[in-house]
Amino acid sequence: MKAIGLLGGMSWESTAVYYRHLNRMARERLGGLHSARCLIWSFDFAEIEAAQATGDWDGATEMMVVAARNLERGGAECLVICTNTMHKMAGEVEAAVGIPLLHIGDATGPAIREAGCNAPLLLATAYTMEQDFYKGHLRDRHGIEVRIPGSDDRDEVHRIIYEELCRGETWADSKQTFLDVVQTEAEKGADGVIFGCTEIGLLVAADDFDMPVFDTTVLHARAALDFALAK
Ligand code: GLU
Repeated sequence: MKAIGLLGGMSWESTAVYYRHLNRMARERLGGLHSARCLIWSFDFAEIEAAQATGDWDGATEMMVVAARNLERGGAECLVICTNTMHKMAGEVEAAVGIPLLHIGDATGPAIREAGCNAPLLLATAYTMEQDFYKGHLRDRHGIEVRIPGSDDRDEVHRIIYEELCRGETWADSKQTFLDVVQTEAEKGADGVIFGCTEIGLLVAADDFDMPVFDTTVLHARAALDFALAK
């Protein structure tokens, strides 16, 4: 089994979910006492969030590159960026190391295509919903055009992610907000839901929706384990 290098702590609430999924899936696949070989670089998320909020993407990229090199030096044989948002600098991170980066969009795109969804709704941070680094990856590499919620709904989804989910808080009102946003977009033709932020699965689940759900945390962890176990 190859060692998986996790760039995590963004936030640690979702990195803990990756860790559980990886180990649970390794046990399911290999049985007995098997678990996933992995290294975790866990950032102080306050530093990352400050760089994001002030638009210091160069500073954030530098932090990601240093951490990726540390994981490689520590023995990681692949990299997993445990957040959709920080795939903004996936290209720079990949170029800085000699091990493969397993892109979260490449874990998600094939699942959307297999489900036959043509207009999935992307729920994510404002950076991921509004900039092109993520939507463009799904479009250019996987032929998927995603939809995003309206401006007020995007603001509220973004606020819930940073002010609640990344702090370990899950509130019934916020869950209802997510359900309402999806309902609104379903009425306009959305035919699937992408949990395009790795904390969203802490608040809502696939059973909460009448359409296919793509939880990027689960899909990404599965892709990482597939890579680690490939001969
Ligand atoms: N984990 C989140 C994501 O998947 C948001 C936190 C971050 O900015 O990295 O985008």
